[in-house]
Amino acid sequence: MRQSTLFTKTRREAPSDEVAKNAQLLVRAGYIHKEMAGVYDFLPLGLLTLNKVIGIIREEMNAIGGEEVFLSTLQDPEVWKKSGRWDDEAVDVWFKTQLKNGSELGLGNTHEEALTALMTEHIASYKDLPRYVYQFQNKFRNETRAKSGIMRSREFIMKDLYSFSNDETSHNAFYEKAAAAYERIFERAGIGGKTYRTFASGGSFSKYSHEYQTVCDAGEDTIYIDEAKRLAVNKEVYDDSDVYAATGIDKASLKEARAIEVGNIFTLGTRFSNALGLSYKDAEGKATPVFMGSYGIGPARLMGTVVELMSDDKGLVWPESIAPFAVHLVSLGKDTDEIAQAADALYDDLVNAGVDVLYDDRDLRAGEKFADSDLLGIPTRVVVGKDAAATGQFEVVNRATGEVVKKSRAELLAK
Ligand code: ATP
Ligand code: MG
Repeated sequence: MRQSTLFTKTRREAPSDEVAKNAQLLVRAGYIHKEMAGVYDFLPLGLLTLNKVIGIIREEMNAIGGEEVFLSTLQDPEVWKKSGRWDDEAVDVWFKTQLKNGSELGLGNTHEEALTALMTEHIASYKDLPRYVYQFQNKFRNETRAKSGIMRSREFIMKDLYSFSNDETSHNAFYEKAAAAYERIFERAGIGGKTYRTFASGGSFSKYSHEYQTVCDAGEDTIYIDEAKRLAVNKEVYDDSDVYAATGIDKASLKEARAIEVGNIFTLGTRFSNALGLSYKDAEGKATPVFMGSYGIGPARLMGTVVELMSDDKGLVWPESIAPFAVHLVSLGKDTDEIAQAADALYDDLVNAGVDVLYDDRDLRAGEKFADSDLLGIPTRVVVGKDAAATGQFEVVNRATGEVVKKSRAELLAK
């Protein structure tokens, strides 16, 4: 992509009412636009990054047998009444709307009800199980505090997977597979080392759920970490002695930390299958409720977490796996001078080699271009200046470490 054709502009100042570092930097770099409090638009660079995150999650969900769907956002109150969650007392984040005839609709805040109801048409026998169904889909939540930028917004994409198993034993086996997939996702997105499987309150079926909590001062949660076991407990279960008995975690050795919940996995049991009539006939023909689990990740929350953890005083710093581009090619040439020609040629070579390149071909001062490049945070910067045009040696700057090396065209292409 040529930067001269990119419509977004960088800016020096973030919106004055924006308190979250992730949103301040992403707005300044032109990755996102703030529509209003808790509501953000994704612009070209932001969408490329978000889609890289989504791509990693999709690969890992497919690898454990996930089948992707896309359910509607508009939701039928009748289905929610069956589970008892239509009531604003039961779910405090509802956005509701109405048809012209006055009947109510919900804007989905989660999809257990809708998908469980849907699956009653597709699961009838033990032969139809197990099923693992997921989507990337907008959720609407009337969050009271939306001060964490894209980590807590009122409309956001969630990856939600729901598992349908014939019993608790087979559910537990899948649950651990999903947990392993989650660990791979966070590792690949560059936050594996700081992310802990965390015991949290569970709900009606299992005593505990698991959250994936990433240690970060900007987090809204407090967790207690057992570093040796790479496990943690959420503050909400810290005083529950059972959690230590069940896990072998030593309460005395725990370290308190602020953390961001980047994902969670839940055993739902038969709570929704009972409420919505999702059962199957076992091998003996006996009707049995399907045993369910749910598995959520917020791709934008994950992206915001990476910004909170990795950015520096000059701007964003992306790990290669989710960067919008691998290389930022910065030309210091003017019009069609020999520097610009050398940069053009290198751009073509990189593109032909299949490298994702953002090419800063704009006619601006070098200082401005470097400041923009730092702000955008693309992992590798290749500079084409007078030297490069004369010697064929390009300056290559590592955005994360600041390390500078010289490389020839052939070395660059090989890399
Ligand atoms: P929290 O306690 O932070 O509100 P939650 O328990 O409501 O999270 P879930 O309903 O289980 O979260 O959603 C699954 C995942 O979706 C979360 O782990 C998080 O990554 C993401 N998520 C939840 N709420 C938001 C939000 N308002 N904005 C962006 N991502 C979110
Ligand atoms: Mg919530």
